[in-house]
Amino acid sequence: MAKTKYFKTESKKLLDLMINAIYTHKDIFLRELISNASDAIDKRHHLSLVDETIQGAEDYSIDLSVDEEARTLSIEDNGIGMREEELIHNLGTIAESGSKAFLEKVEKQEVDMIGQFGVGFYSAFMVADMVEIETRSAYESSGYRWRSKGSATYQIESIERDTIGTKITVYLREDNSDEELDFSRYLKTATLQSLVKQYSDYIRYPITLPIEKEEDGEKRVERETLNSMIPLWKKPKSALTDEAVETFYKRQFNAFDAPLHTIHTSVEGKLTYTALLFIPQKPAHDFYTENYEKGLQLYSKGVFIEDKNKALIPDHFRFVRGLVDSADLTLNISREMLQHDRQLKAIARHIEKKIRNELEKLLANDREKYITFYDTYKTTLKYGVYDQFGANKDSLKDLLMFKTAQNDDYITLKEYMDQKSESQEAIYYVTGKSKSEILARPQLGAFKDKNIDVLLFTDDIDEFMVQVLADYDGVPFKSVQQAENDFIDEDAKAALKEKTTTHKDLLDAIKESLGEKVSTVTLSGRLKDAPVCIVSGEGISMEMEKVLRNLPNQPELKADKILEINPEHPIFGALETVHKANPDKIDDYANVLYHQALLLEGYPIDDPAEFSRLMTDLMLEASKK
Ligand code: ADP
Repeated sequence: MAKTKYFKTESKKLLDLMINAIYTHKDIFLRELISNASDAIDKRHHLSLVDETIQGAEDYSIDLSVDEEARTLSIEDNGIGMREEELIHNLGTIAESGSKAFLEKVEKQEVDMIGQFGVGFYSAFMVADMVEIETRSAYESSGYRWRSKGSATYQIESIERDTIGTKITVYLREDNSDEELDFSRYLKTATLQSLVKQYSDYIRYPITLPIEKEEDGEKRVERETLNSMIPLWKKPKSALTDEAVETFYKRQFNAFDAPLHTIHTSVEGKLTYTALLFIPQKPAHDFYTENYEKGLQLYSKGVFIEDKNKALIPDHFRFVRGLVDSADLTLNISREMLQHDRQLKAIARHIEKKIRNELEKLLANDREKYITFYDTYKTTLKYGVYDQFGANKDSLKDLLMFKTAQNDDYITLKEYMDQKSESQEAIYYVTGKSKSEILARPQLGAFKDKNIDVLLFTDDIDEFMVQVLADYDGVPFKSVQQAENDFIDEDAKAALKEKTTTHKDLLDAIKESLGEKVSTVTLSGRLKDAPVCIVSGEGISMEMEKVLRNLPNQPELKADKILEINPEHPIFGALETVHKANPDKIDDYANVLYHQALLLEGYPIDDPAEFSRLMTDLMLEASKK
């Protein structure tokens, strides 16, 4: 007895979409069903290698059959098949598959190129008024029949079935000449031949169709294989159109956009492999979450082994999608052992280098595209420099770019080096949230005067990265917020030293007023218009302190803060006067200056109420005079 069940809401929505097919590209249903059949064969084949209870088949194939009278087209595979709960779950609900992502896009009206996108099993309802599935799982001795007219329900019943695998029968809708709807074409040999050639040629299993032949006046029917079975990536590059590669990418990796960049490489020699790699236009929706799994698909001689082999791609290129096909891998070893396979490791090294070279080439030849790439993935690259104590810093450093105080466009570190004068002994950087905020920094005054460019570090990761990077071609990185009086000449230095001695009492008094808030109070030779600035000493910077404070489970690290006072600024004279005439007041002055310095650096002030009270007092006092 058949049981009737209801589709889950989302499935129902997708079904409705398919039934009312708003898309012109109905042909793709065949590609979708064939592709599912091929996946099912992959699964059975793979399981037969690792699970003794699963028997593989001698010959795998996907067989198409047509019944003109009944107006049916069926697609039969000898893949893994489905158990009852799988039928219910896989076909009655939409899980995290391409279909779900598709539905979301449709709802947001983001899809216009449906023809290129994998929409899965439900696409059968674009051409069918009923779909029937007969299937037997490789785990079971009998099977099930599933049927649906695409309305709210489907029926399931047990059946006897001799063979393992799945047969999907599509009951084609009636033609409608008013709307130019011709479903009968899917019953014709020529249509099926050309659709398979167009969309499913690279499927690795034979897709067959009985074809009528005439020989010596006698008619015979013989099954013929319609596809070439050469995987797309095995075809010579010259035989591949951009469009074919793009379609393949979208289908294979559930992507909506064309890839930003494609890398297709074949290596022969000690190692033999083909890799087809893609840099997605946008990172996967879960790219920045823990759920994201990096990895490349792995094939051996065109046979699918694994969906996401992590060992094949380093963390710093984890955004790359794609596949590797190699004849050198031992197939029947477990996945865990495969990760340690020497060949696989060698391939991984090659691939890493290849991606890096491609990116360098892109940077050199198509800077605009590189910048699009860089804007999307820069954090991953920078983290790659920082990761593993800088193990990859040398190979990644030339992929980095920064905007600078003098330039709105990105420049590379090499370009910075080429532009700087011989005598400049450091690569200067400044950290902050945005360019406008950074440019207000008092410390930048001297750099502007001397026409020295400064890299702008606006990502949280930047300063951590630079600690690991340490230098570029032997030239150290130096923070503008740390750099001491680098640009003042010896005479000025001596004068500053003398002034510091003369005003020791005042500086000590200010330090005492500020207590633990700062470690040192000094006079500065690099400030132009600003009365004070705050910089950090050795160890972590204030910017890093802020980032670390926002991370969970971090020990509380504090930056060493130094208050620098501009002795040429009128306020310095005022401080001297107050110190002499009214030493009690120096506390208030010191605190106002300290808070001003914080504000100028873009930091929140410790105690806004206190700051506001001090300002008011000072204003009232000034008005009395
Ligand atoms: P997707 O292929 O994106 O996962 P589909 O709607 O095409 O979505 O298929 C849903 C699921 O149904 C598949 O993931 C698979 O588990 C199962 N399935 C579909 N066709 C077959 C088949 N021919 N043999 C075995 N399982 C299948």
